[in-house]
Amino acid sequence: MSTPSSPHILPIDLGGIYPDLVGVPLEINGKRSLSARPDRYKQHGFHFNADNCIGCHACEAACAEKNNLPSHLAFRKVGFLEGGSYPEMVRINISMACNHCEDPVCLKGCPTLAYTKFVEYGAVLQDPDICFGCGYCTWVCPYNAPVLDPVRGEVQKCNMCVDRLEDGLKPSCVAACLSNALNFGVIGEVPVGQSQAKQMIIGFPDPAITRPNIRFQQTQSLPAQFMRAGKDPFLYERDSPEDDHFHVRPISEPTKGWGLNQLHSREDSLVQFTLLYQMVMASFLLLFLFPKRSDVMGKIITGHSETVNGMLCVLLGLQFLGMFVSTMHLGKPQFFYRAINNLRHSWISREILTTGTFFGLLAGYTGVTMFPPLTAWLPVEMASMLSEAIGWGATVMGPLGLYCMYRCYRIAARPFWNHWHTAGAFCASALILGSLVVGLILGGALWLEGSQEILPLLGLLAIPLVLGLILQAASLFFHIRHIKERGEEASVSYVLMTTRYGKTTLARLVGVGTLTLLSVIFTIGAIPSGGWGLVLWGTMWAAAIASEIVGRALFYVLVIPTTIPGAFFWGNKAFEAHARKTGLADLPQVGVIPMGH
Ligand code: SF4
Repeated sequence: MSTPSSPHILPIDLGGIYPDLVGVPLEINGKRSLSARPDRYKQHGFHFNADNCIGCHACEAACAEKNNLPSHLAFRKVGFLEGGSYPEMVRINISMACNHCEDPVCLKGCPTLAYTKFVEYGAVLQDPDICFGCGYCTWVCPYNAPVLDPVRGEVQKCNMCVDRLEDGLKPSCVAACLSNALNFGVIGEVPVGQSQAKQMIIGFPDPAITRPNIRFQQTQSLPAQFMRAGKDPFLYERDSPEDDHFHVRPISEPTKGWGLNQLHSREDSLVQFTLLYQMVMASFLLLFLFPKRSDVMGKIITGHSETVNGMLCVLLGLQFLGMFVSTMHLGKPQFFYRAINNLRHSWISREILTTGTFFGLLAGYTGVTMFPPLTAWLPVEMASMLSEAIGWGATVMGPLGLYCMYRCYRIAARPFWNHWHTAGAFCASALILGSLVVGLILGGALWLEGSQEILPLLGLLAIPLVLGLILQAASLFFHIRHIKERGEEASVSYVLMTTRYGKTTLARLVGVGTLTLLSVIFTIGAIPSGGWGLVLWGTMWAAAIASEIVGRALFYVLVIPTTIPGAFFWGNKAFEAHARKTGLADLPQVGVIPMGH
């Protein structure tokens, strides 16, 4: 190495979570003394020389052997891009593992505190024994570095071979590289024989997201366009030959489709969890707050306390179901309690704490409302104050949970989610589903007793419903406009939304528009009879549920994460789909990641 010249040399940013361990032996390889390596405490990283890489995958194989990885996992992956036309074809191979970033978003996002920024070499280490397999680090890492093993139900990743470093060796992948393409050392120094240490290379996500510790050399002149292996419909293109930056250009699919058979994803349980939470939270707020602002609602709720109590029990059950389903989404559900280990940094931890507290308060409110003996030992006024206090606690905690839920999706590496529309959509779903559910159940109770108050009730509940629908329409409109104009991976989501899922998206827009018109009719009281009004309300409820489920499923399947280019087998969803269809995936040596965990 030569030319030390970096602002990155000392101090290593430990993510603000861990104490500064400079001078403390970390017992790597069981040694209780500090190693004599002179570069310790300096940020290390990989140097990749694309000019030299021949795509032999020796680094990948050495990494897999060193870490004893099954064939469906790879910490280091070699992807490629191809551009130009015969005989001027250019192929660029890119070998990449974890970049041991200066701002490791994986470490900050991990709810269990499984990650450490390691002071000795600036390595970002992850402990699979602490990990409970939520996979959030795989969402936030822009380079697809942490890998979720569905068989073991945990995430693993490159550990910079710190054990080898302590023994004065380079990481296994670097040692195995036969073309001198991969090197390793202090970031800020340029390896001998290399002329460049660029922070970007074609196909590499924006380094501003995490400040990754990898440097590149690539001197060969490049054509204007590069194709990548895989199913995601985009290529890389630059505007002019002088331009260094290649941007993502979506490739339109030829026809509009429904794409309904492709609406499934690993996040199906999150579709259920988020929608159930939003519906339950808004229903509770309407039941608790609306009577305080409206005499009509107050009278109906006081006069139907048994129905309201029954509804509270149902809401509690649904909230429990949502939380149970989200726990089953974990690779190791038995360690669910670790979800709140990282309240200081992780929005997942905060989401779990706030939504769990809301559940507790909802249970408390339901308990004291339904079972007066629980508070019989208190004076009547105190009992009522206690019930109000718990209700107000849930009223504050519910929206706070929704806010934390929204913040979990503000991920720079997932541009489709990283927009205020996510908050708009979550609030809109809450208002729509909450008001329809409360109207349906309370309206049903009124209808059974032949009450004339059905239409006034539905008219009142149509106000939050209209607000929710308008918010949903506005969120959709501004989001579609945003992803269309933003470029990069977001514009690929736009193309998928308007082609592969084009008919579904259109049907959803028409559905939201129709529901808005119908709910306005309820607001102005232009419904002829209570019974028919309730039937129409029930139909709207069913249509809204279908629309929200499809909308939320689209939310998860349309996201195109930033990542590095894949290869013919690795990172190629088209190959994975083919292997699953033909049974090739059943052969472990093919290396297709098994479904589920
Ligand atoms: Fe974390 Fe990904 Fe950066 Fe590695 S490359 S430190 S996993 S954000």
